[in-house]
Amino acid sequence: MNFFDPLKNILKRGAESEKHKYGLIIGAVTMVHICLVVFFGVCRIFPMMFLNIGSVSLYLICLVAIRQGRDMRGVFYSTYLEIIIHSFAATLCIGWRFGFPQYVIALVPFGYYMCHALLEGRRRYTIATLLGLIAFASFVSCRVLSMYVGPLYQLKLPDAAELGVYIFNTFCNFSFLFMVTAVFLVEMQTATSQLQKQNDILDTMANIDPLTGLYNRRSMHHFLESAIESQKGSPFCLVMCDIDDFKKINDNYGHDAGDYVLREVARMAQEQVGEHGHACRWGGEEMLLIIRGDMEMAHRIAEAIRKEVSDFPFQARGQAIHCSITIGVALHRGGNTIDHTITHADDNLYYGKRHGKNQVVADSELNAG
Ligand code: GH3
Ligand code: MG
Ligand code: MG
Repeated sequence: MNFFDPLKNILKRGAESEKHKYGLIIGAVTMVHICLVVFFGVCRIFPMMFLNIGSVSLYLICLVAIRQGRDMRGVFYSTYLEIIIHSFAATLCIGWRFGFPQYVIALVPFGYYMCHALLEGRRRYTIATLLGLIAFASFVSCRVLSMYVGPLYQLKLPDAAELGVYIFNTFCNFSFLFMVTAVFLVEMQTATSQLQKQNDILDTMANIDPLTGLYNRRSMHHFLESAIESQKGSPFCLVMCDIDDFKKINDNYGHDAGDYVLREVARMAQEQVGEHGHACRWGGEEMLLIIRGDMEMAHRIAEAIRKEVSDFPFQARGQAIHCSITIGVALHRGGNTIDHTITHADDNLYYGKRHGKNQVVADSELNAG
């Protein structure tokens, strides 16, 4: 297990569930304010202590609202306002040097992230930019305020403690920035992989015939084009297959039995073609195969399919179904169009249909073009 795995899991859960994500952010902010209640209580700066008690109460209400699945806009705007008020109040009470106004800086990415998540249309960027400008103005105003309006409390801490408070605030602020960035990145990754999965499904739907699992006619055009492109020096054949008397199978055993036969025949064709080419459902119960190889190889594959179909013990409703297939094979010759070769394979197929079916008919002098 990797050191970062637990953190990654928390962030992943956050990316998948809105409640978890906002709960994580507001939970972290609440923890910071609890520390500040203690700090200001110990330093006897009571207005700040009470302000932080108020902040903790506000964030607890926010956490309840998140659990109840309420509209997150209220949580977002009150967090935003609380952080700005806190920066001003801390600057007025104890001055600039403890680093409280830095929290305002983290509001810029937080604002953009939340506006993107919660608002719609272009309005979200306008509002996020406006909020970013307000954060900037607040940060500068705190600095100006600290120069002209002296702190109400002269907090005298040892140098190391003062540095410790400054580092604590800087650490919390950076942690907040890291957290918003990490949630954003994990969310982006999750969205990208979801999109990839959806694309893969759409790709399959666009290219694969759902009944047989073979490529559909549309995607076969792509393979035909690439076969022509890579043809130089490497021959390929087109093989047209048509199940014999398929109408009778449908009529005698029902459409479901017809589907079953079609699926099985497609599986056999696919297995026999294997690495040698591609098989597609050309239409109805016709399949077109591209075989990368010469006529001898294509004939051998076609004959293997024919034999397997003819020998296969098809069964429907407890009855044996006899099924056979007729196949026409044509070598694609350079200079011919692909349509010409398809017609050629088709002619060979119908020659076989007219001469007894259940056979493979390869190029004959009669058909050769
Ligand atoms: P032939 O030997 O001359 O090829 O005779 P055939 O009965 O196979 O003739 P034809 O090719 O004209 O008939 C094909 C039939 O296939 C017609 C159609 O109802 C049926 N069919 C087409 N697609 C499907 C399908 O997806 N499932 C089922 N069950 N039948 C289909
Ligand atoms: Mg048929
Ligand atoms: Mg047919």
